[in-house]
Amino acid sequence: MYYTKVQVQRLIELGENTGLEAYFASAEERDSSFRQRERKLIQKNRATLQNLQGKRRPELRLVEEKLVKGLTELGFIEVLTPVMMSKGMLEKMGLTEEMPLWGQVFWVDEKKCLRPMLAPHLYHMLRRLKKHWDMPLKIFEAGPCFRKESKGSNHLEEFTMLNLVCLGCSKPLQELQETIEKLLSLFALNYKLLETENEVYGYTVDVVVGEMEIASAAIGPHPLDQNWDVSGPWYGIGLGLERIVMVLQGYGNIRRVGRSLSYLDGARLNI
Ligand code: ATP
Ligand code: MG
Repeated sequence: MYYTKVQVQRLIELGENTGLEAYFASAEERDSSFRQRERKLIQKNRATLQNLQGKRRPELRLVEEKLVKGLTELGFIEVLTPVMMSKGMLEKMGLTEEMPLWGQVFWVDEKKCLRPMLAPHLYHMLRRLKKHWDMPLKIFEAGPCFRKESKGSNHLEEFTMLNLVCLGCSKPLQELQETIEKLLSLFALNYKLLETENEVYGYTVDVVVGEMEIASAAIGPHPLDQNWDVSGPWYGIGLGLERIVMVLQGYGNIRRVGRSLSYLDGARLNI
């Protein structure tokens, strides 16, 4: 016989992602295996919580801190834009009601939503800032984004995106690759770049670690630029910070690292 549904659920909650289909000759054997594994996992989760007392900040924040430091050293300037986004901004981004991403948007009222991405606000900033700053214009923002997702272990409805953009660069694709290399070398991560198609930008480059997409990037000039009165070559990268923590920690479930009342910094709280 196999672990019961409740047992499997508990082991997953505690962070187990292998050996969940084990077969046992009797219920006693199964229950004893479950208790043993549960005990070990509880110890591991306790140790993770202890560890947070020492380092003070969750891994998600440390990853963000490292990236922000790396980016500011590369000359990128941080901007802070609202978490609430107007419907008009989404429309200027080329999003229409028929697109899957539109269906994933959390609406606050008829005209406002919780931002599903940072790009529209960054486009807006570029348009304003280009009058004041020299090219290349390098900005970034890190913060919460929201998308309705049919639950899976790699998707949160509330996640943290770090989006950077460099407008007025000379060789977008090459500089894009160099920036990805610099940022990911901060974590010694091995990654692959995969060329793909995206409903917003068309041509995109995904950054993949193992099987996991941790970032998507695009380059311009792009037809959307004219909606924002922006012109010239650019590259932009959107990194999912919870996904980066997941691959760094070897976690199988993104819920452990996102904003949560059940987990803190990878540790299950009801232990
Ligand atoms: P996926 O195909 O995995 O659903 P996506 O291509 O829709 O992701 P992008 O729009 O490219 O996502 O967003 C940039 C990055 O933000 C992604 O590469 C990923 O790391 C992260 N991300 C996107 N959606 C989520 C989510 N629901 N939960 C956690 N991270 C996400
Ligand atoms: Mg993507």
